[in-house]
Amino acid sequence: MKKYFIQTFGCAMNKADSEKINMILLQGKFMKTNNWKQADLVILNTCSVRQKWEDRVFWFAQEIKKENEKNKKNILLWITGCMVRKTGLNSKYLKDYKRDKNKAKKINILKDEKWIFNNDDKLFPRFDNKLDFTLRIEDIKYLALILTHILWETIWKDYNFDDYLKSKQLRENPSQATIIIQTGCDNYCTYCIVPYTRGKEKSRTIEEIIKEAREVVKNWAKEITLVWQNVNSYWKDFLGKKYWNEKEGKWKENFKTPFRKLLEELNKIEKLDRIRFTSSNPHDMTQDILDAHFDLEKTCNYLHFALQSWNDEILKKMNRKHSYKKFKEMIDYLRKKDPNFSISTDIILGFSGETDKMFEDTKKAFEECEFDFVYNARYSVRTWTIAAKLFPDDISEKVKAERWHILNDKLLESVTKRNKLMLWKIEEILISWKKEWQFFGRTRNFKEVFFKMEPSLKIWDIVKVKITDLDKYVLKWELVL
Ligand code: SF4
Repeated sequence: MKKYFIQTFGCAMNKADSEKINMILLQGKFMKTNNWKQADLVILNTCSVRQKWEDRVFWFAQEIKKENEKNKKNILLWITGCMVRKTGLNSKYLKDYKRDKNKAKKINILKDEKWIFNNDDKLFPRFDNKLDFTLRIEDIKYLALILTHILWETIWKDYNFDDYLKSKQLRENPSQATIIIQTGCDNYCTYCIVPYTRGKEKSRTIEEIIKEAREVVKNWAKEITLVWQNVNSYWKDFLGKKYWNEKEGKWKENFKTPFRKLLEELNKIEKLDRIRFTSSNPHDMTQDILDAHFDLEKTCNYLHFALQSWNDEILKKMNRKHSYKKFKEMIDYLRKKDPNFSISTDIILGFSGETDKMFEDTKKAFEECEFDFVYNARYSVRTWTIAAKLFPDDISEKVKAERWHILNDKLLESVTKRNKLMLWKIEEILISWKKEWQFFGRTRNFKEVFFKMEPSLKIWDIVKVKITDLDKYVLKWELVL
């Protein structure tokens, strides 16, 4: 048996992709190890949103190289995720596939598949010859063929793994299942590489998603999170021309969106308790999805809604198609209906041309919107993006760092204020994981809570608790008997 080690960077989408990789490898000739030095194959499922995650990937590759040289090993490195634009192989594998003609007849190696038999991805020269192959997750059907070609032995032949969207996930936490509903992105935000690495939006059918949801609920999932970059544009790739108003950038009037239909179907599944989804793009948000949080009892009172900047000029430069005003109206609507409705967001600070005044405006957004959580990222140029080609990275690292600290302080103020609203309330939590002597879980509005383990309880239980104290971002609670 060969061993693999996988490290996942970034968001829920990458985590779901890693679960697909786990399923595929474990059904093939591999077993998982948590010690990368014992692995035959190291997989880095990358994210390009933050520079520090990219730096970590390069650092890891160097460590593998050192380990191989020091101990005469041949740990292979596969990079996937958002840093990869093209599937391909290290040049050393491009020439030696004819090394043993007799053996080559018995195994199904790569030959003329130009799409993969190349080393065009710009990552190869950046990895100092250590990177063995890049494989876009959407090309997962080539994994066995690539490994066979590199390892020079038949790995597996299983056509069940041929379709990325249909291949299944091996869920690490069965009580909470993520389900991928789309792939790709058509938005081309100027700072983002995803449309180039993941391609055009492609949605799964409602029937497929519901079938998978029923399976995970049968296997004890109580919570489902629908994931992709832009979930509320679900199915636009099929219905777009007929029902999407290109000029105004929204669905036509009085049209029930496919995403709402999907939520309604999921809501009918017995024994499923909670439905969440991430990420939502404000310009694709529709009234029927906002209302789903209140009309459908399983859809939780939490929304991750990426603002990125308060300033409309910066938003335009980012090619974000919403305005702050519209964003604010939507969150006001949600909070008016339910003051405990949680909103989290993403902010990029220090984007090209962001003046002190513009940054002050973003600070104001923190005060006005009272976010429950914010992922603050310092802008860093991503090669191949529109912003890299058109806009100078003209805010110094020092200023970005100062702004980042200021926003984090603002965030703590906002979170503390929001969490205080929860004090002494009775809430339902789904116990989801444990660490040392504590259980952790989340309320329906996505607040993380913890308490001392009780022998009568276990992961998967939903219990009623009274929130009794705050610990920065986390709530402490007591059981309500
Ligand atoms: S919506 Fe924008 S930020 Fe999100 S993945 Fe698509 S291009 Fe990137």
